[in-house]
Amino acid sequence: MDWREDFVESLLDKEALEFLVKYHLGDAAAGITRQVIGKGLSSLSEPQLYVFKTEVVDEWLIRKCKRCQADVPGHDLIGVWENDGFCSYCADKIAKDD
Ligand SMILES: [Zn+2]
Repeated sequence: MDWREDFVESLLDKEALEFLVKYHLGDAAAGITRQVIGKGLSSLSEPQLYVFKTEVVDEWLIRKCKRCQADVPGHDLIGVWENDGFCSYCADKIAKDD
């Protein structure tokens, strides 16, 4: 069973992936992620796909907002990482309620 069949490719937001490479990933995962940015998922070997899935996709890309449980689209991921797991809408609400 290939995980890519269920994977939403729009989660591969270039800006979000570059952010991970810069601030969060170890050398191996960062190198693989750079390759995904440049050449796409189909350019990865099986072992690379496994590392990408476990260290990048599962760890960083598949996110639900902690408050409203909405799936987070690729271009909003950086906001969620920086807002401690909340989408920008909820982070805004929380800031106002305080
Ligand atoms: Zn939310």
